[in-house]
Amino acid sequence: MAFAAIYCRVPSRMFDLTTAAVIYCTIVAVVFLGLWLWYDRRDHRRFELERRKTTFHCIRCDALYTAPSGTELCKCPKCGHENSRLRF
Ligand SMILES: [Zn+2]
Repeated sequence: MAFAAIYCRVPSRMFDLTTAAVIYCTIVAVVFLGLWLWYDRRDHRRFELERRKTTFHCIRCDALYTAPSGTELCKCPKCGHENSRLRF
């Protein structure tokens, strides 16, 4: 009787342990995947902001300079003349 009870309990305990391990591994995997995606998107956004720059050419002192993307007018850092962005 006691042997039968142990025999019956072992598979269910094993199943519980396997389920717990699977759930634990899934949670760990989801956490790491989420962190990876979050950091990847953050770095990509930062890189895009750094990369996307508007080029300006000063018509007064012939200097080339850049400003963050989206700006149409920017003052020249050398002479202060306001120039519109360079169009290609
Ligand atoms: Zn200038």
